[in-house]
Amino acid sequence: MLSAELLSAFLEIVGPRGLITAQNQLQTYECDGLTAFREAPSAVLLPETTGQVQAILRLCTRHKVPFVARGAGTGLSGGALPTQGSIVIGFSRMTKILNVDLVNHQITVQPGVINANVTVAVAGAGFFYAPDPSSQTVCTIGGNVAENAGGAHCLKYGFTVTHVLEATVVLPSGELVTLGSKSPDAPGYDLLGVFIGSEGTLGIATEMTLRIVRKPEAIQVLLAAFPSISAAAQTVSDIIAAGLLPSAMEIMDRLAIVAAEAAVHPQYPMCDGLLIVEVDGPLAEVKLQAEQVLELCRKNGAIETRHAIDEGDRLLIWKGRKAAFAAAGRLSPNYIVQDGVIPRTTLPVVLEKIAAMANAEGLRVTNVFHAGDGNLHPIVLYRRDNPGEEERAIDLSMRILDLCVETGGSITGEHGVGREKQCSMSYMYAPADLATMQRVRRAFDPDNIANPEKLFPTPRLCGEQKRGHYVPHPVEASGIAEVF
Ligand SMILES: Cc1cc2nc3c(=O)[nH]c(=O)nc-3n(C[C@H](O)[C@H](O)[C@H](O)COP(=O)(O)OP(=O)(O)OC[C@H]3O[C@@H](n4cnc5c(N)ncnc54)[C@H](O)[C@@H]3O)c2cc1C
Repeated sequence: MLSAELLSAFLEIVGPRGLITAQNQLQTYECDGLTAFREAPSAVLLPETTGQVQAILRLCTRHKVPFVARGAGTGLSGGALPTQGSIVIGFSRMTKILNVDLVNHQITVQPGVINANVTVAVAGAGFFYAPDPSSQTVCTIGGNVAENAGGAHCLKYGFTVTHVLEATVVLPSGELVTLGSKSPDAPGYDLLGVFIGSEGTLGIATEMTLRIVRKPEAIQVLLAAFPSISAAAQTVSDIIAAGLLPSAMEIMDRLAIVAAEAAVHPQYPMCDGLLIVEVDGPLAEVKLQAEQVLELCRKNGAIETRHAIDEGDRLLIWKGRKAAFAAAGRLSPNYIVQDGVIPRTTLPVVLEKIAAMANAEGLRVTNVFHAGDGNLHPIVLYRRDNPGEEERAIDLSMRILDLCVETGGSITGEHGVGREKQCSMSYMYAPADLATMQRVRRAFDPDNIANPEKLFPTPRLCGEQKRGHYVPHPVEASGIAEVF
């Protein structure tokens, strides 16, 4: 509960349109895309300038008030979930494109700019912004930077981290710093690299200069239908092994196709493993690569192949893929989108293991994922109103992550750790690794007010507990355990 004095100080900074305290309005902010976890914030602040963000954070530091940054709230790991007693700082009023520098292939934006709008701003001049999360028509650049967001085309073009040159960041103390540089390869520590993917735990980005890329001469998208998801996965490995680098390689299983078809009618061939491959570059190279890809698809038993007949068809194919998470709502009222990474060559065997685990648990799992990166997105379907089913779904999705780690992979490829996977961090890292990361965090945020209770196990004993909803360990409750 914030004091009346503090609320009026916040009001003075952001004005009445920038402060939300009514209970019914706060409900909008009580969760992100991971709806299984909810907590209402004490207040929501919607600043318009970097100066206002600085003033807010100075007050937060003085009064030890935790804050949680929020872009569009599409995060799937609870990153923008309020923590107890926290305020939320939203960026829906910081949506300006500040500068377009076509000569240097750069654009500078505020954090609330929607990902797809960056491309809209430069498309007329023949450029695009490459990182394309499936949520790109809604999610913000601030959220993308905090999560190091990926997308279908990151296979060739790289994740967000490859495309951010410079960020203006307000530290939790209110101090303003510039990380990175508009010109490449500045000497010294790569603090911008530390900030990207830090999930709102090191400060707030209020301006970002991004790299934009020239549109390729030609783009072709291919569809190949396989009798099994393993055959589609094997083809992905074979394409890379053949020395080809498509701009995207995505896989969808039968359930995902059914859902996408019902939602946006992309007219995919019905099958157990659908492979979408996009190749781009000079026209001659695209033609050759497309032929080679189709050849490998046929070799692996594709029952049907086709390519987009025109640009409209290509966009429709991508619309189906990008709508797949939301379309899962047509399969089940509740679902968890998981995000693990495995070595690409292990795709066939891991997908079979996931199917076996789901069968044993009596739950349905559908798969739609960035196959080229080995970045799985198993979607665990469940009904919250069936007693105990949500807990079983959370447990299954966490065991899938354990499997990813055991296979030599990671607990997240792009959705972040947030609240959801903080206890899995101890499965992936040794205590010394986690302690080192905490020291970095404390260098930026000595008071532990920037998105606390996220990213790292809290307390250290977290790894010993059952995962899912956070229940304080008895040793923590008694005040003995160390809480970061
Ligand atoms: C249908 C759907 C499809 C998706 N597909 C993809 C995908 O293909 N690839 C992918 O990577 N993700 C995907 N996501 C996840 C999500 O869209 C991304 O993580 C995205 O980057 C979050 O952006 P946001 O603006 O919604 O951020 P939010 O969810 O609001 O916040 C995410 C994190 O960023 C922090 N944050 C927000 N703004 C700032 C700021 N200015 N400074 C510092 N920290 C900040 C928050 O505190 C939080 O920790 C998908 C989500 C959905 C719902």
